[in-house]
Amino acid sequence: MKYPLPTLAGAVAVLALAACSAPQPASSPAWFGLTAPTGLVAPTISPDAATAAAIPKAVVPPGEVAFTELEGARIKPDVEKVVGFAEQMRKAGNQMWGRISGFPSEAATADWVAGQLRAAGVQDVKVETYSASADFWWPKSWEARVLGDPAYGAGSKDVLLASAMPVSRSQISGTITAPVVFVGEAGSVSSDGVAGKIAVEHTRPATGAYSDRAKVRESSAALIKAGAIAVLNWVEQGGNMHVFDFGNCGGPCFNIGGEDGRFLAEASARAKAAGAPPLRMSLKLDAEMKSGLTARNVIGVIPGASSEIIVVNAHLDSWYSGAGDNADGVAVLLALARHYGKPANRPARTLVFVGSGGHHSPGMNGPGNLLPANADLLKKAVLVVNLEHLAQFEIQAVPTWQVHATEEPKNFGVSNMSPFLVSTVKAGVARYGFVIKPEITNSVPGDLGGYAPLNVARIQGIHSGPLYHTSGDQPASISTAGLERAARFYRYVIDEAAKAPAAEINP
Ligand SMILES: [Zn+2]
Repeated sequence: MKYPLPTLAGAVAVLALAACSAPQPASSPAWFGLTAPTGLVAPTISPDAATAAAIPKAVVPPGEVAFTELEGARIKPDVEKVVGFAEQMRKAGNQMWGRISGFPSEAATADWVAGQLRAAGVQDVKVETYSASADFWWPKSWEARVLGDPAYGAGSKDVLLASAMPVSRSQISGTITAPVVFVGEAGSVSSDGVAGKIAVEHTRPATGAYSDRAKVRESSAALIKAGAIAVLNWVEQGGNMHVFDFGNCGGPCFNIGGEDGRFLAEASARAKAAGAPPLRMSLKLDAEMKSGLTARNVIGVIPGASSEIIVVNAHLDSWYSGAGDNADGVAVLLALARHYGKPANRPARTLVFVGSGGHHSPGMNGPGNLLPANADLLKKAVLVVNLEHLAQFEIQAVPTWQVHATEEPKNFGVSNMSPFLVSTVKAGVARYGFVIKPEITNSVPGDLGGYAPLNVARIQGIHSGPLYHTSGDQPASISTAGLERAARFYRYVIDEAAKAPAAEINP
Protein backbone atom coordinates (compact mmCIF):
# COMPACT_ATOMS: atom_id res chain seq x y z
CA MET A 1 0.00 0.00 0.00
CA LYS A 2 2.96 2.27 -0.43
CA TYR A 3 2.39 3.03 -4.05
CA PRO A 4 -1.26 3.91 -4.69
CA LEU A 5 -0.98 7.59 -4.04
CA PRO A 6 1.98 8.39 -6.25
CA THR A 7 0.62 5.96 -8.88
CA LEU A 8 -2.75 7.67 -8.89
CA ALA A 9 -1.14 11.07 -9.03
CA GLY A 10 1.04 9.87 -11.88
CA ALA A 11 -1.97 8.54 -13.76
CA VAL A 12 -3.81 11.82 -13.36
CA ALA A 13 -0.76 13.66 -14.63
CA VAL A 14 -0.52 11.36 -17.66
CA LEU A 15 -4.22 11.80 -18.40
CA ALA A 16 -3.87 15.56 -18.10
CA LEU A 17 -0.90 15.47 -20.41
CA ALA A 18 -2.81 13.26 -22.86
CA ALA A 19 -5.72 15.71 -22.82
CA CYS A 20 -3.35 18.57 -23.48
CA SER A 21 -1.48 16.75 -26.20
CA ALA A 22 -4.58 15.53 -28.08
CA PRO A 23 -4.54 18.56 -30.39
CA GLN A 24 -0.84 17.95 -31.01
CA PRO A 25 -0.92 14.66 -32.96
CA ALA A 26 2.67 15.21 -34.08
CA SER A 27 3.58 13.13 -31.06
CA SER A 28 1.77 9.97 -32.35
CA PRO A 29 2.94 7.89 -35.31
CA ALA A 30 1.21 7.87 -38.71
CA TRP A 31 -2.13 6.05 -38.82
CA PHE A 32 -2.05 5.44 -35.06
CA GLY A 33 0.96 3.20 -35.61
CA LEU A 34 -0.97 0.79 -37.89
CA THR A 35 0.88 -0.80 -40.78
CA ALA A 36 -0.64 0.19 -44.10
CA PRO A 37 -1.72 -2.74 -46.32
CA THR A 38 0.95 -3.89 -48.74
CA GLY A 39 -1.01 -4.20 -51.99
CA LEU A 40 -2.69 -7.00 -53.90
CA VAL A 41 -1.63 -10.24 -52.18
CA ALA A 42 -2.65 -13.83 -52.90
CA PRO A 43 -3.05 -15.87 -49.72
CA THR A 44 -1.34 -19.24 -49.32
CA ILE A 45 -2.77 -21.35 -52.14
CA SER A 46 -0.48 -24.39 -52.27
CA PRO A 47 0.01 -27.04 -49.56
CA ASP A 48 2.97 -26.70 -47.22
CA ALA A 49 5.75 -29.28 -47.48
CA ALA A 50 4.25 -31.72 -44.97
CA THR A 51 0.81 -31.53 -46.61
CA ALA A 52 2.32 -31.81 -50.09
CA ALA A 53 3.98 -35.09 -49.05
CA ALA A 54 0.48 -36.41 -48.30
CA ILE A 55 -0.99 -35.63 -51.76
CA PRO A 56 -2.43 -38.93 -53.02
CA LYS A 57 -0.76 -40.09 -56.23
CA ALA A 58 -2.94 -40.51 -59.29
CA VAL A 59 -4.22 -44.08 -59.71
CA VAL A 60 -3.13 -45.71 -62.96
CA PRO A 61 -4.91 -49.04 -63.37
CA PRO A 62 -3.14 -51.82 -65.26
CA GLY A 63 -3.65 -51.33 -68.99
CA GLU A 64 -3.74 -47.52 -68.69
CA VAL A 65 -0.02 -46.88 -68.28
CA ALA A 66 0.15 -46.17 -72.00
CA PHE A 67 -2.31 -43.26 -71.62
CA THR A 68 0.59 -40.86 -71.17
CA GLU A 69 -1.34 -37.83 -72.46
CA LEU A 70 -3.40 -38.04 -69.26
CA GLU A 71 -0.42 -37.72 -66.91
CA GLY A 72 -0.53 -34.74 -64.56
CA ALA A 73 2.98 -33.60 -65.43
CA ARG A 74 1.90 -33.40 -69.09
CA ILE A 75 -1.26 -31.41 -68.24
CA LYS A 76 0.02 -28.88 -65.67
CA PRO A 77 2.08 -26.79 -68.15
CA ASP A 78 -1.11 -26.20 -70.14
CA VAL A 79 -2.76 -24.73 -67.03
CA GLU A 80 0.13 -22.28 -66.83
CA LYS A 81 -0.05 -21.55 -70.56
CA VAL A 82 -3.77 -20.76 -70.41
CA VAL A 83 -3.28 -18.59 -67.31
CA GLY A 84 -0.55 -16.79 -69.26
CA PHE A 85 -3.09 -15.33 -71.70
CA ALA A 86 -4.76 -13.56 -68.78
CA GLU A 87 -1.46 -12.53 -67.24
CA GLN A 88 -0.44 -10.92 -70.55
CA MET A 89 -3.43 -8.64 -70.25
CA ARG A 90 -2.41 -7.76 -66.70
CA LYS A 91 1.19 -7.08 -67.68
CA ALA A 92 0.00 -4.81 -70.48
CA GLY A 93 -1.17 -2.45 -67.73
CA ASN A 94 -4.86 -3.31 -67.51
CA GLN A 95 -6.21 -2.83 -64.00
CA MET A 96 -8.84 -5.52 -64.73
CA TRP A 97 -7.55 -8.63 -66.43
CA GLY A 98 -8.61 -12.10 -67.44
CA ARG A 99 -9.44 -14.13 -70.51
CA ILE A 100 -12.25 -11.75 -71.19
CA SER A 101 -14.73 -12.56 -73.94
CA GLY A 102 -14.66 -9.94 -76.65
CA PHE A 103 -11.07 -8.94 -75.75
CA PRO A 104 -7.72 -9.97 -77.28
CA SER A 105 -6.93 -12.23 -74.29
CA GLU A 106 -9.83 -14.50 -75.20
CA ALA A 107 -8.95 -14.43 -78.90
CA ALA A 108 -5.36 -15.47 -78.09
CA THR A 109 -6.61 -18.29 -75.85
CA ALA A 110 -9.04 -19.53 -78.51
CA ASP A 111 -6.39 -19.46 -81.25
CA TRP A 112 -3.92 -21.36 -79.09
CA VAL A 113 -6.50 -23.99 -78.07
CA ALA A 114 -7.47 -24.43 -81.73
CA GLY A 115 -3.81 -24.99 -82.61
CA GLN A 116 -3.41 -27.55 -79.83
CA LEU A 117 -6.54 -29.41 -80.96
CA ARG A 118 -5.26 -29.54 -84.56
CA ALA A 119 -1.88 -30.80 -83.37
CA ALA A 120 -3.71 -33.50 -81.38
CA GLY A 121 -5.32 -34.77 -84.59
CA VAL A 122 -8.75 -33.23 -84.02
CA GLN A 123 -10.47 -32.58 -87.36
CA ASP A 124 -12.40 -29.59 -88.73
CA VAL A 125 -11.14 -27.32 -85.96
CA LYS A 126 -12.72 -23.88 -86.22
CA VAL A 127 -12.67 -20.72 -84.17
CA GLU A 128 -16.22 -19.44 -84.51
CA THR A 129 -16.97 -15.82 -83.73
CA TYR A 130 -20.28 -14.43 -82.57
CA SER A 131 -21.61 -11.03 -81.56
CA ALA A 132 -22.57 -9.96 -78.07
CA SER A 133 -26.33 -9.53 -77.72
CA ALA A 134 -26.06 -7.21 -74.68
CA ASP A 135 -23.89 -4.34 -73.49
CA PHE A 136 -20.89 -5.31 -71.39
CA TRP A 137 -19.90 -3.27 -68.33
CA TRP A 138 -16.17 -2.77 -68.30
CA PRO A 139 -14.10 -1.09 -65.54
CA LYS A 140 -11.15 0.63 -67.25
CA SER A 141 -9.56 2.14 -64.15
CA TRP A 142 -10.50 2.97 -60.59
CA GLU A 143 -9.14 4.07 -57.25
CA ALA A 144 -10.20 3.69 -53.60
CA ARG A 145 -8.21 6.10 -51.46
CA VAL A 146 -8.32 6.50 -47.67
CA LEU A 147 -7.56 10.15 -47.03
CA GLY A 148 -4.71 10.98 -44.68
CA ASP A 149 -5.09 13.53 -41.90
CA PRO A 150 -2.60 14.72 -39.24
CA ALA A 151 -5.36 13.97 -36.71
CA TYR A 152 -4.57 10.26 -37.28
CA GLY A 153 -0.90 10.83 -36.38
CA ALA A 154 1.86 12.89 -37.92
CA GLY A 155 2.61 11.94 -41.51
CA SER A 156 -0.67 10.01 -42.06
CA LYS A 157 -0.62 10.06 -45.86
CA ASP A 158 -3.36 8.79 -48.17
CA VAL A 159 -3.59 4.98 -48.38
CA LEU A 160 -4.67 3.31 -51.62
CA LEU A 161 -6.71 0.13 -51.17
CA ALA A 162 -5.12 -2.03 -53.87
CA SER A 163 -7.62 -4.88 -53.54
CA ALA A 164 -10.59 -2.62 -54.31
CA MET A 165 -12.66 -3.91 -57.21
CA PRO A 166 -15.73 -2.10 -58.50
CA VAL A 167 -18.84 -4.24 -58.53
CA SER A 168 -20.41 -4.88 -61.91
CA ARG A 169 -22.56 -2.00 -63.26
CA SER A 170 -21.09 0.55 -60.83
CA GLN A 171 -20.63 4.05 -62.27
CA ILE A 172 -19.03 7.18 -60.82
CA SER A 173 -18.70 10.51 -62.56
CA GLY A 174 -15.87 12.57 -61.14
CA THR A 175 -14.80 11.66 -57.62
CA ILE A 176 -16.86 10.65 -54.58
CA THR A 177 -15.44 11.94 -51.30
CA ALA A 178 -17.26 11.11 -48.08
CA PRO A 179 -16.84 9.87 -44.50
CA VAL A 180 -16.70 6.12 -43.92
CA VAL A 181 -19.22 4.32 -41.69
CA PHE A 182 -19.14 0.64 -40.70
CA VAL A 183 -22.59 -0.94 -40.87
CA GLY A 184 -22.00 -4.53 -39.70
CA GLU A 185 -22.36 -7.93 -41.29
CA ALA A 186 -23.79 -8.39 -44.78
CA GLY A 187 -27.25 -9.84 -44.31
CA SER A 188 -27.92 -7.86 -41.12
CA VAL A 189 -26.56 -4.37 -41.76
CA SER A 190 -27.77 -1.21 -40.06
CA SER A 191 -28.65 1.57 -42.46
CA ASP A 192 -29.02 4.23 -39.72
CA GLY A 193 -27.01 7.31 -40.54
CA VAL A 194 -25.56 6.05 -43.81
CA ALA A 195 -26.97 8.90 -45.91
CA GLY A 196 -24.19 10.75 -47.68
CA LYS A 197 -21.56 8.32 -46.41
CA ILE A 198 -19.49 5.45 -47.74
CA ALA A 199 -20.95 2.40 -45.97
CA VAL A 200 -18.68 -0.56 -45.27
CA GLU A 201 -20.26 -3.98 -44.77
CA HIS A 202 -18.34 -7.07 -43.76
CA THR A 203 -18.58 -10.67 -44.91
CA ARG A 204 -16.38 -13.66 -44.26
CA PRO A 205 -17.41 -16.33 -46.73
CA ALA A 206 -16.77 -19.84 -45.49
CA THR A 207 -16.81 -21.36 -48.96
CA GLY A 208 -16.04 -18.53 -51.37
CA ALA A 209 -17.85 -15.43 -52.49
CA TYR A 210 -20.33 -17.53 -54.50
CA SER A 211 -22.11 -18.65 -51.34
CA ASP A 212 -22.51 -15.05 -50.09
CA ARG A 213 -23.82 -13.55 -53.31
CA ALA A 214 -27.45 -13.08 -52.33
CA LYS A 215 -26.95 -11.53 -48.88
CA VAL A 216 -24.15 -9.16 -49.97
CA ARG A 217 -26.12 -7.94 -52.96
CA GLU A 218 -29.29 -7.44 -50.92
CA SER A 219 -27.53 -5.56 -48.12
CA SER A 220 -25.54 -3.32 -50.44
CA ALA A 221 -28.66 -2.47 -52.44
CA ALA A 222 -30.50 -1.63 -49.18
CA LEU A 223 -27.65 0.67 -48.09
CA ILE A 224 -27.70 2.52 -51.40
CA LYS A 225 -31.47 2.85 -51.08
CA ALA A 226 -31.01 4.32 -47.59
CA GLY A 227 -28.82 7.05 -49.07
CA ALA A 228 -25.29 5.64 -48.82
CA ILE A 229 -23.23 7.44 -51.46
CA ALA A 230 -21.25 4.22 -52.07
CA VAL A 231 -20.82 0.79 -50.46
CA LEU A 232 -17.66 -1.17 -49.77
CA ASN A 233 -18.04 -4.94 -49.33
CA TRP A 234 -15.18 -6.07 -47.11
CA VAL A 235 -14.72 -9.68 -48.21
CA GLU A 236 -12.51 -11.08 -45.49
CA GLN A 237 -10.53 -13.99 -46.85
CA GLY A 238 -6.84 -14.83 -46.78
CA GLY A 239 -4.45 -12.29 -48.29
CA ASN A 240 -5.69 -9.13 -49.97
CA MET A 241 -7.47 -10.21 -53.13
CA HIS A 242 -9.66 -8.75 -55.82
CA VAL A 243 -13.08 -10.39 -55.77
CA PHE A 244 -15.22 -10.14 -58.88
CA ASP A 245 -18.73 -10.82 -57.72
CA PHE A 246 -21.80 -9.35 -56.10
CA GLY A 247 -23.33 -7.75 -59.22
CA ASN A 248 -25.39 -4.60 -59.57
CA CYS A 249 -26.12 -2.97 -56.19
CA GLY A 250 -27.93 0.05 -57.65
CA GLY A 251 -25.06 2.49 -56.99
CA PRO A 252 -21.28 2.61 -56.80
CA CYS A 253 -20.12 -0.48 -54.90
CA PHE A 254 -16.65 -1.94 -54.47
CA ASN A 255 -15.31 -5.15 -52.98
CA ILE A 256 -12.21 -4.86 -50.84
CA GLY A 257 -9.99 -7.71 -49.62
CA GLY A 258 -8.93 -8.97 -46.21
CA GLU A 259 -5.99 -6.71 -45.37
CA ASP A 260 -7.48 -3.54 -46.82
CA GLY A 261 -10.70 -4.08 -44.87
CA ARG A 262 -8.80 -4.76 -41.66
CA PHE A 263 -6.78 -1.56 -42.04
CA LEU A 264 -9.90 0.47 -42.68
CA ALA A 265 -11.70 -1.06 -39.67
CA GLU A 266 -8.79 -0.65 -37.25
CA ALA A 267 -8.00 2.88 -38.35
CA SER A 268 -11.69 3.82 -38.02
CA ALA A 269 -11.88 2.34 -34.53
CA ARG A 270 -8.74 4.13 -33.41
CA ALA A 271 -9.91 7.44 -34.88
CA LYS A 272 -13.14 7.10 -32.89
CA ALA A 273 -11.28 6.17 -29.69
CA ALA A 274 -8.92 9.14 -30.13
CA GLY A 275 -11.75 11.56 -30.79
CA ALA A 276 -10.31 12.26 -34.24
CA PRO A 277 -12.63 12.93 -37.20
CA PRO A 278 -14.12 9.84 -38.93
CA LEU A 279 -12.06 8.41 -41.77
CA ARG A 280 -12.85 9.79 -45.21
CA MET A 281 -12.33 8.12 -48.55
CA SER A 282 -12.36 9.19 -52.16
CA LEU A 283 -13.55 6.82 -54.88
CA LYS A 284 -12.98 7.09 -58.61
CA LEU A 285 -14.14 4.80 -61.39
CA ASP A 286 -13.85 5.04 -65.13
CA ALA A 287 -16.25 2.37 -66.41
CA GLU A 288 -17.98 2.07 -69.75
CA MET A 289 -20.67 -0.01 -71.39
CA LYS A 290 -19.08 -1.77 -74.35
CA SER A 291 -21.27 -2.85 -77.20
CA GLY A 292 -20.63 -4.79 -80.39
CA LEU A 293 -18.05 -7.13 -78.85
CA THR A 294 -17.11 -10.30 -80.71
CA ALA A 295 -16.58 -13.48 -78.68
CA ARG A 296 -15.27 -16.91 -79.65
CA ASN A 297 -15.99 -20.64 -79.47
CA VAL A 298 -13.53 -23.30 -80.61
CA ILE A 299 -14.96 -26.53 -82.01
CA GLY A 300 -13.41 -29.66 -83.52
CA VAL A 301 -14.30 -33.31 -84.15
CA ILE A 302 -12.71 -36.70 -83.51
CA PRO A 303 -14.70 -39.19 -85.58
CA GLY A 304 -15.68 -42.37 -83.76
CA ALA A 305 -17.07 -45.70 -84.87
CA SER A 306 -20.57 -44.19 -84.63
CA SER A 307 -21.67 -40.76 -85.90
CA GLU A 308 -23.59 -40.18 -82.68
CA ILE A 309 -21.87 -37.50 -80.66
CA ILE A 310 -20.54 -36.90 -77.19
CA VAL A 311 -19.71 -33.20 -76.65
CA VAL A 312 -16.73 -32.47 -74.39
CA ASN A 313 -16.81 -28.80 -73.32
CA ALA A 314 -14.61 -26.45 -71.28
CA HIS A 315 -15.09 -22.68 -71.01
CA LEU A 316 -12.06 -20.64 -72.04
CA ASP A 317 -12.77 -17.31 -70.39
CA SER A 318 -11.99 -16.10 -66.89
CA TRP A 319 -12.00 -13.21 -64.45
CA TYR A 320 -8.36 -12.60 -63.50
CA SER A 321 -5.92 -15.48 -64.06
CA GLY A 322 -8.52 -18.23 -63.64
CA ALA A 323 -6.28 -21.24 -62.95
CA GLY A 324 -9.07 -23.23 -61.35
CA ASP A 325 -11.76 -21.42 -63.36
CA ASN A 326 -11.16 -22.73 -65.86
CA ALA A 327 -7.59 -23.24 -67.06
CA ASP A 328 -7.65 -26.66 -65.39
CA GLY A 329 -10.77 -27.63 -67.37
CA VAL A 330 -9.22 -26.40 -70.63
CA ALA A 331 -5.98 -28.30 -69.94
CA VAL A 332 -7.88 -31.53 -69.28
CA LEU A 333 -9.91 -30.94 -72.47
CA LEU A 334 -6.64 -30.81 -74.43
CA ALA A 335 -5.32 -33.94 -72.66
CA LEU A 336 -8.44 -35.87 -73.66
CA ALA A 337 -8.18 -34.56 -77.24
CA ARG A 338 -4.56 -35.78 -77.43
CA HIS A 339 -5.58 -39.13 -76.00
CA TYR A 340 -8.43 -39.68 -78.44
CA GLY A 341 -6.42 -38.18 -81.28
CA LYS A 342 -4.25 -41.30 -81.24
CA PRO A 343 -5.63 -43.93 -83.66
CA ALA A 344 -5.26 -46.63 -80.98
CA ASN A 345 -7.76 -44.77 -78.77
CA ARG A 346 -10.46 -44.18 -81.40
CA PRO A 347 -13.74 -43.72 -79.49
CA ALA A 348 -16.90 -45.75 -80.08
CA ARG A 349 -18.91 -42.54 -80.62
CA THR A 350 -17.76 -39.33 -82.31
CA LEU A 351 -16.36 -36.74 -79.93
CA VAL A 352 -16.90 -33.01 -80.43
CA PHE A 353 -14.44 -30.89 -78.44
CA VAL A 354 -15.55 -27.36 -77.54
CA GLY A 355 -13.69 -24.48 -75.93
CA SER A 356 -16.52 -22.08 -75.17
CA GLY A 357 -16.48 -18.33 -74.70
CA GLY A 358 -18.64 -15.92 -72.80
CA HIS A 359 -19.23 -17.98 -69.70
CA HIS A 360 -18.81 -14.89 -67.51
CA SER A 361 -20.06 -12.20 -69.87
CA PRO A 362 -23.66 -11.12 -70.35
CA GLY A 363 -24.92 -11.57 -73.91
CA MET A 364 -21.95 -13.70 -74.95
CA ASN A 365 -22.89 -17.22 -73.82
CA GLY A 366 -20.70 -19.64 -75.75
CA PRO A 367 -22.90 -22.76 -75.90
CA GLY A 368 -25.94 -20.58 -76.62
CA ASN A 369 -24.19 -19.42 -79.81
CA LEU A 370 -22.52 -22.74 -80.59
CA LEU A 371 -25.79 -24.66 -80.90
CA PRO A 372 -27.43 -22.65 -83.69
CA ALA A 373 -24.11 -22.35 -85.57
CA ASN A 374 -23.61 -26.15 -85.54
CA ALA A 375 -27.19 -27.41 -85.49
CA ASP A 376 -26.69 -30.21 -88.04
CA LEU A 377 -23.71 -31.62 -86.21
CA LEU A 378 -25.02 -31.25 -82.67
CA LYS A 379 -28.45 -32.75 -83.34
CA LYS A 380 -26.60 -36.09 -83.22
CA ALA A 381 -25.47 -35.47 -79.63
CA VAL A 382 -26.40 -38.01 -76.97
CA LEU A 383 -24.38 -36.57 -74.07
CA VAL A 384 -22.58 -33.37 -73.03
CA VAL A 385 -19.62 -33.63 -70.63
CA ASN A 386 -18.50 -30.32 -69.12
CA LEU A 387 -14.99 -29.90 -67.70
CA GLU A 388 -15.12 -27.04 -65.21
CA HIS A 389 -13.16 -26.32 -61.98
CA LEU A 390 -11.48 -29.72 -61.78
CA ALA A 391 -8.30 -29.81 -59.75
CA GLN A 392 -7.92 -27.02 -57.20
CA PHE A 393 -6.56 -28.01 -53.81
CA GLU A 394 -9.25 -27.93 -51.16
CA ILE A 395 -8.91 -24.70 -49.22
CA GLN A 396 -10.56 -24.25 -45.86
CA ALA A 397 -11.25 -20.57 -45.24
CA VAL A 398 -12.59 -20.59 -41.69
CA PRO A 399 -11.80 -20.67 -38.83
CA THR A 400 -8.26 -20.61 -40.24
CA TRP A 401 -7.01 -20.61 -43.80
CA GLN A 402 -5.66 -24.08 -44.62
CA VAL A 403 -4.68 -25.77 -47.87
CA HIS A 404 -5.34 -29.51 -47.96
CA ALA A 405 -3.59 -32.33 -49.83
CA THR A 406 -6.67 -33.35 -51.83
CA GLU A 407 -8.82 -31.38 -54.23
CA GLU A 408 -11.97 -29.38 -53.62
CA PRO A 409 -14.84 -31.87 -53.58
CA LYS A 410 -16.95 -31.38 -56.67
CA ASN A 411 -20.73 -31.27 -56.82
CA PHE A 412 -21.48 -33.91 -59.41
CA GLY A 413 -24.54 -33.40 -61.56
CA VAL A 414 -26.24 -35.76 -64.01
CA SER A 415 -29.04 -33.70 -65.53
CA ASN A 416 -31.36 -36.63 -66.28
CA MET A 417 -30.20 -38.87 -63.40
CA SER A 418 -29.77 -41.74 -65.88
CA PRO A 419 -29.02 -44.78 -63.68
CA PHE A 420 -26.33 -45.86 -66.14
CA LEU A 421 -24.55 -42.49 -66.00
CA VAL A 422 -24.84 -42.25 -62.22
CA SER A 423 -23.37 -45.73 -61.73
CA THR A 424 -20.63 -45.05 -64.30
CA VAL A 425 -19.66 -41.84 -62.48
CA LYS A 426 -19.57 -43.72 -59.16
CA ALA A 427 -17.45 -46.48 -60.68
CA GLY A 428 -15.06 -43.88 -62.10
CA VAL A 429 -14.79 -42.11 -58.75
CA ALA A 430 -14.00 -45.42 -57.03
CA ARG A 431 -11.49 -46.32 -59.73
CA TYR A 432 -9.47 -43.08 -59.83
CA GLY A 433 -10.23 -41.22 -56.60
CA PHE A 434 -11.71 -38.21 -58.43
CA VAL A 435 -12.98 -36.12 -55.53
CA ILE A 436 -16.73 -35.47 -55.45
CA LYS A 437 -19.35 -34.97 -52.76
CA PRO A 438 -21.22 -38.19 -51.94
CA GLU A 439 -24.55 -37.18 -53.40
CA ILE A 440 -25.01 -36.96 -57.16
CA THR A 441 -27.90 -34.67 -58.12
CA ASN A 442 -29.58 -33.41 -61.28
CA SER A 443 -28.20 -29.88 -60.73
CA VAL A 444 -25.85 -28.75 -63.53
CA PRO A 445 -24.96 -25.06 -63.04
CA GLY A 446 -22.14 -23.38 -64.96
CA ASP A 447 -21.58 -23.79 -68.66
CA LEU A 448 -24.05 -26.64 -69.20
CA GLY A 449 -27.08 -24.32 -69.15
CA GLY A 450 -26.50 -23.32 -72.78
CA TYR A 451 -26.66 -26.97 -73.85
CA ALA A 452 -30.15 -27.55 -72.39
CA PRO A 453 -31.86 -27.15 -75.80
CA LEU A 454 -30.11 -30.32 -77.03
CA ASN A 455 -32.37 -32.17 -74.61
CA VAL A 456 -29.81 -34.86 -73.85
CA ALA A 457 -27.95 -35.88 -70.69
CA ARG A 458 -25.45 -33.32 -69.37
CA ILE A 459 -22.88 -34.17 -66.71
CA GLN A 460 -20.15 -32.43 -64.74
CA GLY A 461 -18.33 -32.21 -61.42
CA ILE A 462 -17.87 -28.56 -60.37
CA HIS A 463 -16.95 -26.63 -57.23
CA SER A 464 -16.64 -23.00 -56.12
CA GLY A 465 -14.06 -22.64 -53.36
CA PRO A 466 -12.57 -19.61 -51.61
CA LEU A 467 -10.52 -18.62 -54.68
CA TYR A 468 -13.57 -18.54 -56.96
CA HIS A 469 -13.55 -15.33 -59.06
CA THR A 470 -10.60 -13.87 -57.12
CA SER A 471 -7.15 -12.69 -58.14
CA GLY A 472 -5.77 -15.50 -55.92
CA ASP A 473 -6.91 -18.18 -58.41
CA GLN A 474 -3.35 -18.92 -59.56
CA PRO A 475 -1.62 -22.09 -60.88
CA ALA A 476 -0.01 -22.95 -57.52
CA SER A 477 -3.54 -23.78 -56.32
CA ILE A 478 -3.88 -26.57 -58.92
CA SER A 479 -2.98 -30.15 -57.99
CA THR A 480 -0.91 -31.95 -60.64
CA ALA A 481 -2.13 -35.31 -59.33
CA GLY A 482 -5.66 -33.87 -59.27
CA LEU A 483 -5.42 -32.96 -62.96
CA GLU A 484 -4.48 -36.56 -63.74
CA ARG A 485 -7.31 -37.88 -61.56
CA ALA A 486 -9.75 -35.68 -63.47
CA ALA A 487 -8.37 -36.61 -66.90
CA ARG A 488 -8.37 -40.35 -66.20
CA PHE A 489 -11.81 -40.21 -64.60
CA TYR A 490 -13.37 -38.36 -67.55
CA ARG A 491 -11.59 -40.62 -70.07
CA TYR A 492 -13.22 -43.57 -68.32
CA VAL A 493 -16.69 -41.98 -68.21
CA ILE A 494 -16.47 -40.90 -71.86
CA ASP A 495 -15.32 -44.37 -73.00
CA GLU A 496 -18.07 -46.13 -71.06
CA ALA A 497 -20.71 -43.71 -72.37
CA ALA A 498 -19.37 -43.99 -75.91
CA LYS A 499 -19.98 -47.76 -75.83
CA ALA A 500 -23.38 -47.67 -74.11
CA PRO A 501 -26.74 -47.91 -75.89
CA ALA A 502 -28.30 -44.45 -76.40
CA ALA A 503 -31.35 -45.55 -74.39
CA GLU A 504 -29.18 -46.03 -71.31
CA ILE A 505 -27.70 -42.52 -71.55
CA ASN A 506 -31.09 -40.93 -72.18
CA PRO A 507 -33.65 -43.38 -70.78
ZN1 LIG B 1 -16.19 -21.62 -64.48
